[in-house]
Amino acid sequence: MSDYEKLAELLFPDITKTPEDYEKIYPERGLSEGARVSRFAPSPTGFLHLGGLFASMISRLTTRATDDGVFFLRIEDTDKKREIEDGVSAIITGLKDFGMTPDEGVMGFNEESGNYGPYQQSHRKEIYQTIAKSLVIKGLAYPCFCSEEELNSIRAEQEKVGTPIQGYFSEWAKCRELSFEEQKANIEAGKPYTLRLRSPGSAENRIKFDDLIKGKIEMPENIQDVVLLKTDGIPTYHFAHAVDDHFMRTTHVVRGDEWISSVPLHIQLFKACGYRVPKYAHISPIMKEDNGGKRKLSKRKDPEASVSFYTESGYPKESVIEYLLTIANSNFEDWRKVNKDAPQSAFPFNLKKMSASGALFDLNKLNDVSKNVISVMTADEVYEKALIWAKAYDEELYNLFSKDEAFAKGILSIDRGTAKPRKDIAKWDEIKDYVSYFYNEIYTPDYSLPENISKEDAAAVLEAYLKVFDAADDKDTWFNKIKELCEPLGFTPNVKEYKKNPEAFKGHVGDVSTVIRVAITSRRNTPDLHSIIALLGNDEIKARLESALKEYK
Ligand code: GLU
Repeated sequence: MSDYEKLAELLFPDITKTPEDYEKIYPERGLSEGARVSRFAPSPTGFLHLGGLFASMISRLTTRATDDGVFFLRIEDTDKKREIEDGVSAIITGLKDFGMTPDEGVMGFNEESGNYGPYQQSHRKEIYQTIAKSLVIKGLAYPCFCSEEELNSIRAEQEKVGTPIQGYFSEWAKCRELSFEEQKANIEAGKPYTLRLRSPGSAENRIKFDDLIKGKIEMPENIQDVVLLKTDGIPTYHFAHAVDDHFMRTTHVVRGDEWISSVPLHIQLFKACGYRVPKYAHISPIMKEDNGGKRKLSKRKDPEASVSFYTESGYPKESVIEYLLTIANSNFEDWRKVNKDAPQSAFPFNLKKMSASGALFDLNKLNDVSKNVISVMTADEVYEKALIWAKAYDEELYNLFSKDEAFAKGILSIDRGTAKPRKDIAKWDEIKDYVSYFYNEIYTPDYSLPENISKEDAAAVLEAYLKVFDAADDKDTWFNKIKELCEPLGFTPNVKEYKKNPEAFKGHVGDVSTVIRVAITSRRNTPDLHSIIALLGNDEIKARLESALKEYK
C-alpha cells in the first residue's frame, strides 16, 4: 500500500465504494445525440429571487432546444449557516408558479424524482467522500490541519512580503508536504482538518474557455490548494459542483456570473477527477437603476427582487416570462410582433443572443408587456386567472366574481377579441378597480364633470336620455338615440361641425356621451359604453341616471 493509499484509508475508513461504483449507479443518460441537460441549483434560502427565476428560464430553454433535454433542480444546502428552515418550498412554489417546474430533481419538501439523485447535497455526503478518497489515493488531495489563526498569519506574512498572489498554494501551503507519519499523528491526535486539492496548476499557465454567453475567456490557471471538504466533511461549492454535475450528467452549466472567476478552478477539478468539463453559460445579474447609477436587484432593498412579489400583485405568469424573454434575447420583441399569438415556447431562444452585460429591470416595461399579454387573453382566461388570484389575495373580488360568473365574464368580454383590444389591466390587483362600477357593493359614485360641461346641461342631457334609453338597443340604435339628443339641447351630433364653429354649440356628441358615461360609471374613459349599458340592464341604468340627475339639479 502506498502512503497515499494508507492516508486515504485513515481519512475515510468507512468509505467502501469507488468512483467506478458511482459511474455505474449514475450512467450516461442515453439521450439522443446532442441532448442538453441543465439545472437550477439554488441554496434553500426560503426565497426565489427574480434572477433565480431568470436563470431557471434560461437553463430550461437551453434544454428545450433539444428534443429530450432535461432540466433538473438541485438543492445546494451544504452551507448550513445560510440555510433557513424549509427553504426549499418557496423555491419550488416559485418555479411552479411561473411554469418552470423541473423535469426531475427536488420536486417538493422531501420529495424527489429522477434516477440521478439524491438531488439535495446534504444527502450526498458518501458520494463526495468517495471521490475525495480517490483524489487522496491519486495524490491530488491532502488533509490540512491549519487553524484559522495559522491561515491568518500566512495571509499577514504574504501581505508583508507583498506576494503577487495570496492564499494557500505551493510553498505557502504548509500541510502540502507533511509526511504520512505527521499526517497520521495529527489525525490520531484528533486534530480537525479540511481536505484540500493539491493543485496541479502553475502560475505561468493560462486557461482558455468559451463561455456560451460571454464568449472566449482567458484567465490564469488555478494554483490554489482550495478546500474540497470542510472540517465537518461537507464539500465546498466548488467540489460539489464538479461531483454533482458530473454524476447528474449535466451538459450545460447555466449560472450567475459571480462564478466566472472560479471557472479555472472548476475546470481543474473536473480534470483532476477525470471528468468531461461541461459547457458554461454565465448570466449577468438583473440590474436596477438607483440614483442615476446601476446596482444588482437586491433581496433586501427591492420587494420586486422576490418572485412572490409578482404572484401577490397578480401578474400572470405569462407576463413575467414574456418580460424575462424580452431581456433574455433582444430579438424577442421583433419575433413577438410577427408572431402575435404564438406560444412563448415557439420562440427560437438562443444563448448566444444573450447580453453579456446585466439587463436593467424596468417595472413600467413589465406593466406594458403584461397589458399586452392580458389584452389578448379570452374573457374566460382572464376570469379563471383573476379568480384564482382573488381567492388567495382579495376575498371581496373573489366573492363578487364567483357570485355571478356570467356577469363577470360579460364585463371582461367588453372590447375583447377585437383587432385593437384595450390594454387597461397589467395585473390582477388592478381588476377590482377596473370592474368596480359594475358592482354596487364596491361602487362609490363620483359625478364630477369635465370643466366644459355645466351641471345644468348635464341635467338636461340626463333628463332627455332617461326618456329614450333602452339597454336592449343594438349599438346603432343606441348611438342614434344619443345623436338625436344633441340638437334640441344645443349640442351638435357632428364633431367636425363643432370644430369649425365651436361658438355655435354647447358641445358635441362626445360631450353628451361623457355626461351619460359619468352618470353610469363615474368615469370619463371606459370600455364600450353601449356594452356597459347592455350588461347593467334597464333598472340599474335608470337608477344611476336618476341618481346623477339628482346630484346636478
Ligand atoms: N448554489 C449556487 C448558487 O446559488 C449554484 C451555482 C450553480 O448554479 O452552480 O449560486
